[in-house]
Amino acid sequence: MIAQLVPVLIAFGANLGDRSVTIREAAAELGRVDGVSGLQLSPMRETIALTPDGPDPEAPRYLNAVATAQTTLGPHELLDHLQRIEADHGRARGERWADRTLDLDLVLFGGRVVKDDRLTVPHPLAHERDFVLAPWLALDPHAVLMGHGRVAELLERVGDTTMPFEEAP
Ligand code: ATP
Ligand code: MG
Ligand code: MG
Repeated sequence: MIAQLVPVLIAFGANLGDRSVTIREAAAELGRVDGVSGLQLSPMRETIALTPDGPDPEAPRYLNAVATAQTTLGPHELLDHLQRIEADHGRARGERWADRTLDLDLVLFGGRVVKDDRLTVPHPLAHERDFVLAPWLALDPHAVLMGHGRVAELLERVGDTTMPFEEAP
């Protein structure tokens, strides 16, 4: 049997360490995983940290990006790889939305809906996060978020506070 290739969307975030290097390395590692193919990383956007108390301009800023890819893995197998790559890049699990070296979230897994102890897909907050929508739109101007509609319209609705990120020469 030929395993089905499922399109997936992964969100990347980092606000500690060498953020752009971490995101690039993590994307390359994910792209090399057996059962993951065709990974494309979006441009990076710089964003103010979001804490449980709201945006915090004092906290180290995030770099965010998204990647599209195809996979023959199951959603939990893919999550295992995302969590392994986070751990390899020094991700510590502290308070909710605490500063971190790397966050890898599974935003979409084809048209699948998953809701269990480990995984909620589509990611329940993606539609209201400019730091997911803006890089996604840059990668795919026609992107549609399952259950919510066109990414261009969603981004207009939430307002885009993300900033372009220029790599230091
Ligand atoms: P948020 O999900 O609001 O962006 P976060 O990324 O900071 O928060 P984490 O600390 O990275 O949250 O993950 C907490 C738990 O969320 C993980 O242990 C994981 O099992 C679970 N989880 C549920 N759905 C997803 C998903 N779609 N992608 C990644 N992790 C998920
Ligand atoms: Mg997250
Ligand atoms: Mg996460």
